[in-house]
Amino acid sequence: MPFAPSQTDILIVGSGPVGATFARLLAEQSPHAKILMTDLGPQLTRRAGMNLKTLPDANERNAAQIRSQGLAQYEYENLSIHARAQTMNGQRAKLARPGTHLITLDELELNASGMPAAAMSSNVGGMGAHWTCACPRPGNAERVPFIPAPELDAALTKAEALLRVSSGVFPVSVEGQAIQQTLSALFDDILPEDRKVRPMPLACAVTSDGERIWTGADTILGDLILSPNFTLRSETICRRLVVKGDQITGAMLEHLPSGAPQEINAKIVIVAADALRTPQLLWASGIRPRALGHYLNDHLWSFAAVALDEQMVTKQASHYRSPDNTIGVFQIPFHAPSHPFHAQVMHLDISPVALDGGAATEAKHVVGTGWSCQKEIRFADCVTFSDTETDWIGMPKMRIHYELTEADQAAMTEAMREQARATAALGKPVFSDEPLLVPPGTSLHYQGTIRMGATADSTSVCDSHSRVWGLRNLYVGGNGVIPTATTCNPTLTSVALAVRACEAIIKTKELQ
Ligand SMILES: Cc1cc2nc3c(=O)[nH]c(=O)nc-3n(C[C@H](O)[C@H](O)[C@H](O)COP(=O)(O)OP(=O)(O)OC[C@H]3O[C@@H](n4cnc5c(N)ncnc54)[C@H](O)[C@@H]3O)c2cc1C
Repeated sequence: MPFAPSQTDILIVGSGPVGATFARLLAEQSPHAKILMTDLGPQLTRRAGMNLKTLPDANERNAAQIRSQGLAQYEYENLSIHARAQTMNGQRAKLARPGTHLITLDELELNASGMPAAAMSSNVGGMGAHWTCACPRPGNAERVPFIPAPELDAALTKAEALLRVSSGVFPVSVEGQAIQQTLSALFDDILPEDRKVRPMPLACAVTSDGERIWTGADTILGDLILSPNFTLRSETICRRLVVKGDQITGAMLEHLPSGAPQEINAKIVIVAADALRTPQLLWASGIRPRALGHYLNDHLWSFAAVALDEQMVTKQASHYRSPDNTIGVFQIPFHAPSHPFHAQVMHLDISPVALDGGAATEAKHVVGTGWSCQKEIRFADCVTFSDTETDWIGMPKMRIHYELTEADQAAMTEAMREQARATAALGKPVFSDEPLLVPPGTSLHYQGTIRMGATADSTSVCDSHSRVWGLRNLYVGGNGVIPTATTCNPTLTSVALAVRACEAIIKTKELQ
């Protein structure tokens, strides 16, 4: 196969939503720049980077999910939330969600890591080919404190446009309204005017004939994919960045099917290879600031589901059918200190839902709820990399060291109490009387490992425009950049931080 040119203006490692954001905005602002994007995973869909939820054929979707699973090229057992929570001490491989794979299949190692469900997606489009598309805005204490509020708001607005975020994705239903009103009665009093209980903002466009186009990297890239100045290489891993003094001169790539290596020179290098593999690549390149891989945090999550109270049900089947049984999503936003949690409330279809993982249960409206609290941010929680051992794809082997502190456990207990109060008001528990805490890593929202900071004081990896401290042309992107303890889904924030980074990159002399 023809290989990438040996010279590019901009090299982007990782083709998920964040890599796609860098590509799209830099191409818009610097239309003559040559952009090369590489991803170690295969291209799953005809149009590169589509969200698989958009594929109508379940078999095709299933096959594409398996191709994204790196070292686990097989179909996972369909594990219910209940069974997932019970799997705390065994059969770790079952903890991965379709389309993702665990960092290793070694159960003992995962057990010891404290984050047994830590996972990633290895495919063009990254996790953005598999995500649920919830795009809440961060609340007060979740926001990056050293980015001026108007700048962050402007970047979030631009991110919402790129991701096509909308609050009107699902049709209004009597039951949905009853769910929202019940939650509003419980929580609106403690939330500010602009952050009341509401339909979840989702990255999805609804066409005039009612088709839902869920956002993937393809949506963000848009027509750029057709540009002669843009090249996307699938199954091409970036093994190492080439560092000379205070700059990156390029990178060592390898086309995985052929094993062919290639050095590529680049003026600007952006690594958006997720919160575990971005620090891995920097480590492999000898870029090892003290904070690299540290301050790891994810969203501690508890789940509960109820059959919606009979009095709220009209007994009319929903006319809308979704591929994953979801017919509405609501959000109880974070607002500290009165509500230091984020809640995602899924209204599931009247069609049978196999919440217990076995045979489908009786048809009913089911409400699935997920509550998360802020994790205490600590240097000790980290992903580290080996200089001697390699992982499934030949990169420095990663190990996770993660613990829930007393403060984390107290916060989660409080979150679960709030969750129990909400679910009791909505109906009868489906699989457990109490909310269930799922293993760390289940959220798939890993943050902090390449965090940004206001000053180069060794507690951060990059500045507030995502430029790695001490290197003038290396930028990082993704959830790992977020320095705060958040509770809300992170992708919107990460895309916003990439938007801000692009504004800085475009002014650099490298692109003049
Ligand atoms: C089932 C599921 C549901 C989710 N739901 C939500 C949600 O509702 N809301 C939300 O905000 N988030 C959600 N997420 C998380 C969301 O998908 C991620 O936050 C988002 O995709 C991160 O984007 P990214 O571009 O930073 O990284 P990714 O999308 O993870 O992409 C990183 C890419 O880098 C590539 N890569 C890694 N290392 C290398 C290398 N050395 N060389 C070349 N390529 C490399 C990988 O193959 C991958 O394609 C969900 C994820 C999943 C799996």
